[in-house]
Amino acid sequence: MRPARALIDLEAFKANYRHARQLAGGRALAVVKADAYGHGAVRCAQALDGEADGFGVACIEEALALREAGIRAPILLLEGFFDTDELALIQRHGLWTVAASPWQVEALERHRGARPEQVWVKLDSGMHRLGLTPAGFTDAWQRLRTLEGIGALVAMTHFSRADELAEERTAEQLAQFDQALTALPDTATASVANSAALMAWPQARRGWGRPGLMLYGTHMLDAPCPAAEALRPAMHLESAVISVRELGAGEPIGYGGSFVTDRPTRVGVVAMGYADGYAQYAPAGTPVLVDGRRSRLIGRVSMDMLTIDLTDHPQAAVGTPVELWGPNLPVAEVAAHAGTSPYRLLSGLKRVPLVYG
Ligand SMILES: *Cc1c(COP(=O)(O)O)cnc(C)c1O
Repeated sequence: MRPARALIDLEAFKANYRHARQLAGGRALAVVKADAYGHGAVRCAQALDGEADGFGVACIEEALALREAGIRAPILLLEGFFDTDELALIQRHGLWTVAASPWQVEALERHRGARPEQVWVKLDSGMHRLGLTPAGFTDAWQRLRTLEGIGALVAMTHFSRADELAEERTAEQLAQFDQALTALPDTATASVANSAALMAWPQARRGWGRPGLMLYGTHMLDAPCPAAEALRPAMHLESAVISVRELGAGEPIGYGGSFVTDRPTRVGVVAMGYADGYAQYAPAGTPVLVDGRRSRLIGRVSMDMLTIDLTDHPQAAVGTPVELWGPNLPVAEVAAHAGTSPYRLLSGLKRVPLVYG
């Protein structure tokens, strides 16, 4: 059997959720969109069933997959519905929706059947992707609060730069949000904090936290932060050496011959490639762990395999385990080498079986 697989540590995932919930100081919606950032949404949600206050997903398809798997906790559609036809399903399956665009507010008003139990009204406080303008937010709130069937409204917004600890944008967005709240006729339950804000912006810890990335045990904070130290990586992407060869100096390795050995080199081939979701453009020098010790990529990553330097690993042989990222090699470090983010590496995982422990 091909040795490539992703070991998912559900205990670490649960511990990270508890940590996030404690930081939130109240309730936390476990964000399991994009198949739980590559960790398998059904198994992750089941691991938190009875414990999580709710789950966040990107679309109704993801929500229905969780309901079909028996998840009874609240599920929020983070982008709302894409089509008014979804409102009937939202009602039938007891889902909650975001209202982030004027057309979604109008669709909720016009809908003839029963309405979602909770609607989270989203303010654009400066990210400028989804969300209502301050005036549109007040207007939507006033219209939705009188609609029959909606049990509760939550005021939400989303940060664009909460992982930059010295950046002023987050405080500005929070001020925009607070300003918008003062215009509401009710004391609103709030939801503002993603993972980065939960960990690094204590003033944003209010109402419902919406942790995603941190549940999987990693982060992109650009400066040390004590709250991030407790995170436990939930994925160990591993494979093994499947071939070893000795080359002299001056030999090219792999497609394009972009890497040329500068010394006699022992080359190991590992069963892991970009069709598994490993970064295709990870350059030579990107770290891997061979039997727990650091080595590095050499040569271009190909679809099913990659090549590593075993010159200083004389004991490594066919079958020696290789950690691509995981508890001993942070996925964020690999992502930084590859010029991408841990979000993309984790959610881009393909083909490798997920093995739960
Ligand atoms: C994805 C998402 C989150 C989670 O963000 P992380 O940075 O992964 O914690 C929170 N809120 C919304 C609206 C999202 O789309």
